Amino acid sequence: MLALLLILATAALASANISAENFNGEKVFRVNVQNEEQVKLINDLANTMQIDFWKPDSVVQVKPDSIVDFRVEAAHVSTAERFLEQNGFNYRVLIHNLQTVLEAQIDRQGRAAGHGYEKYNTWEEIEAWTQQISEENPELVSRLVIGTTFEGRNMYVLKVGKEGVNKPAIFMDCGFHAREWISHAFCQWFVKEAVNTYGTDAQMANLLNNLDFYILPVVNIDGYVYTWEKNRMWRKTRSTSPNSRCIGTDPNRNFNAKWCTMGASKYPCDDTYCGSHPESEKETKALADFVRSKLSSIKAYLTIHSYSQLLLFPYSYGYDIPEDFAELNALAEATVKELATLYSTKYEYGPGAETIYPAAGGSDDWAYDQGIKYSFTFELRDRGSYGFSLPPSLIKPTCEETTLAVKYIANYVLQHLY
Ligand SMILES: [Zn+2]
Repeated sequence: MLALLLILATAALASANISAENFNGEKVFRVNVQNEEQVKLINDLANTMQIDFWKPDSVVQVKPDSIVDFRVEAAHVSTAERFLEQNGFNYRVLIHNLQTVLEAQIDRQGRAAGHGYEKYNTWEEIEAWTQQISEENPELVSRLVIGTTFEGRNMYVLKVGKEGVNKPAIFMDCGFHAREWISHAFCQWFVKEAVNTYGTDAQMANLLNNLDFYILPVVNIDGYVYTWEKNRMWRKTRSTSPNSRCIGTDPNRNFNAKWCTMGASKYPCDDTYCGSHPESEKETKALADFVRSKLSSIKAYLTIHSYSQLLLFPYSYGYDIPEDFAELNALAEATVKELATLYSTKYEYGPGAETIYPAAGGSDDWAYDQGIKYSFTFELRDRGSYGFSLPPSLIKPTCEETTLAVKYIANYVLQHLY
């Protein structure tokens, strides 16, 4: 009987693997792109083979004097390497076998143990966790449903804060891009920190007594489920359209902020597809509707992505400097300094377009233009050694330092209510 059970369990694991895409032999390259000529060459390479851009998000965003990280399928690795060498690129291999580092992200024992804060959790585990943490902490946490995804899953927001009237609020979301798993982990970590330290940490108590956090732990749930079940490298939503065979929209190109003008694609097959119109995605529409409904109380908008270790603020949709540049820049500078106090993790900061590259239709620019002054995008660890395949051992330090940063911003917001 025991033997039969073991065989069945092994078969179940094997079938889970068979259905998923395999990344054996795939490599991630880091290239120093020095000039326009090399930008053109990278475009040529992307035209001859399937390349998955990790940084920047797409080939159109590649610019001179920048670092470009991309993933190449096993069958094209040697061709890509020859191309880089023959054209005199300065490059190195960041990840030698993607499958190996991806497998290390999923701890089978941890998975069997259910939800945990130092592992990557499935959507089922996260969904159950949203219910459990709100039931166990009714004084501090309540769970709202703000909409459903394309595939019909409930989108939850956790309202975290002590009951009070006319409290200012901070909206924070994780999991816009499905493959950025450390982002998803952070929202769960932050809620745990809030409820666990409320009674012992005067600063956290002050924050939760005087403001509310609205935390959307996973924006793009369908995409996240897809990264577990089919393709770990999926980024977009999972919506279909009658006009294309390709699936999904980049939710962070889908907001009504100079929508699809720069750094976004009009082609549904691209990873930075902006969608058929602003808020075409049920997930972005639900988020935007919720924020609009609370606009008078929401004083800060924080959106958590990975990777690169950046703290960005508007604008990304162009090189315009926001009205509050001086204040946002000073706050970003102080926040990354605070973040570094724990593990000396170095972050860069600045307006999105200038600091990395232009990208229109992002949620941070949209929130800022709605009147939410303190609008920031975090790009969490690392700087490319693991990229999207950050090992579980780095969840804790990453979330700890990011918690410091978020608390710093929240505290600042409380002291500068507008
Ligand atoms: Zn992202």
